[in-house]
Amino acid sequence: MPERVLFDNARYAAGGQRPADRQPARRVAVVTCMDARIDVDGALGLGPGDAHVLRNAGGIVTEDTIRSLALSQWLIGTHSVLVVHHTDCALHRMHGPTFHQRLYEAAGQLPTWELGTFADLDTGVRESVRRIAAAPFLRYRDRVYGFVLDVATGRLRPVR
Ligand code: ZN
Repeated sequence: MPERVLFDNARYAAGGQRPADRQPARRVAVVTCMDARIDVDGALGLGPGDAHVLRNAGGIVTEDTIRSLALSQWLIGTHSVLVVHHTDCALHRMHGPTFHQRLYEAAGQLPTWELGTFADLDTGVRESVRRIAAAPFLRYRDRVYGFVLDVATGRLRPVR
């Protein structure tokens, strides 16, 4: 694996231009799931240098997401946030306590972080949007837009 990464990187470094500006050209931050089926650039029409992309399990808004968005908005100049959850997410309808129990049995302690499960996709998107809109450390809390990406069709559906 590391050898392949280095091999591929050598080709990457040898060709093409890379964005020079730290500020995302589209002035947007994207919060989305780590799911490997999500091609963020392809699905949202973004390219290198266009956006800050924050990914975690579920695309939920955690304290660390707020930390990154605070830097993104105050220091690097993004103005809006797209929250993109998706169909067939591993956290959708997952039973959080069972997973926490599994971790407890393996580690002898419970994690302090939330797993971020959700019973309903749209409700999960709205909760993430709400957390951003309610975050006092953010500069632009009124330009937050929620979506669900269908990983089968590639279609993006707004959630209001
Ligand atoms: Zn997911």
